[in-house]
Amino acid sequence: MTNTSTSDFDHHHLWHPYASLPPTYSNIVIDHAEGIYIVTEDGTRLIDGMSSWWASVHGYNHPKLNTAITKQLGKMAHVMFGGLTHKPAIELGEKLLKIVPKGLDAIFYADSGSIAVEVALKMALQYQIAVGRTDKNQFASTHSGYYGDTWHAMSICDPVNGMHSLYGTQLPTQHFVSAPPMGFEHKLTQDVRDELTQFFANNSDKLAGFIIEPIIQGAGGMRFYSPEYLQLLRKLCDEYDVLLIADEIATGFGRSGKLFACEHANICPDIMTIGKALTGGYMTFAATLCTRQIADTIHHSDYPALMHGPTFMGNPLACAVACASIDLIMSYDIEARTANMQAVMQQQLAPATALDGVKEVRCLGAVAVIELEMAVDMPTFQALLIDNGIWVRPFGKLIYIMPPYVITDSELNTLCQALLKVVTSYLQTLQLAQ
Ligand SMILES: *Cc1c(COP(=O)(O)O)cnc(C)c1O
Repeated sequence: MTNTSTSDFDHHHLWHPYASLPPTYSNIVIDHAEGIYIVTEDGTRLIDGMSSWWASVHGYNHPKLNTAITKQLGKMAHVMFGGLTHKPAIELGEKLLKIVPKGLDAIFYADSGSIAVEVALKMALQYQIAVGRTDKNQFASTHSGYYGDTWHAMSICDPVNGMHSLYGTQLPTQHFVSAPPMGFEHKLTQDVRDELTQFFANNSDKLAGFIIEPIIQGAGGMRFYSPEYLQLLRKLCDEYDVLLIADEIATGFGRSGKLFACEHANICPDIMTIGKALTGGYMTFAATLCTRQIADTIHHSDYPALMHGPTFMGNPLACAVACASIDLIMSYDIEARTANMQAVMQQQLAPATALDGVKEVRCLGAVAVIELEMAVDMPTFQALLIDNGIWVRPFGKLIYIMPPYVITDSELNTLCQALLKVVTSYLQTLQLAQ
């Protein structure tokens, strides 16, 4: 096995995402990263299959992004956004409004995805208060959703797979309908239509908003669903005066095959959150956008201020690098690029379907998922990944990749072949152990 160094200090003192301290197996020390590779302290090069959780879409150490952030650093790293403004924030806003679904017109800069979701919920609530519907003060979502780890974001995550069982009674009560039926091509049955319609009829009186990840449900199950579902949701939200909140934090900036996943359904949400790839993976940054009507309604109410204001709101370094990242995205033919990635991954990973222990292989846009029958044993799986020169981070039964857009076809083949080999060896190891 490749000898990847581990740090004793890290092991004993640093918490990692969703991990115990000390962890059950050690974290790999990364020295640097360039292009599609992350490089460990002992020089092992790993093809990054994760884009650092959807974020590093242009690969690492990108000259254009480096230049943008360095240039801004020479002017100011940060300045407070209360009472002050700056060019990077304005420029980013102008760029965003040109590319987001038509109808979104006001922007709140947040410091992370979860905070953008919190702000979206506050916006929806303040809107309902403004129109005199103080009774509409709860939220709804579907099962299998993921919206972040802060308190209210957590409360609308999948109530079974999420953290509800742990924090249970402390979380605010929200409302859940079945997860959208699986499959981008799925035709909605009358049963599904009826269930969703009935849900709105029963609950809309107390609902400020309905939040959903458009087309791709990410961390809640890596599920793809049909644009028809999103269209029905848009229609019902309109009919029942419930604000539609689209969480595009994972899907935004091309990942689903369209610049924003809402475009698959040709709908505009009332509120939209973006994050992750917004800065090309350089800085923690996110935003909540809403329609002119929502912004104006809040403005003309008894509480005209939107009550949120993080210390690092509108951070100039983040805005500058986000501008450069958007320029890069717009310079790719993103739909053609992701369609091609989808075709390559589909073809290369299809043989996994035949393996004993694999439930399904599915691809959409620049995302590919191998779903196993049983949860992955991480230490065993991770060792195989490193030995085969790739970095992938499964959760539960889900092994998935969303590589950087700059990956070449031949590199993508290498990644998929290596992943196929890892999954095959892993499943064989399991069978031998039985
Ligand atoms: C990652 C994610 C979040 C949370 O973003 P953080 O920056 O991790 O707080 C929210 N919604 C979706 C859909 C995400 O994928």
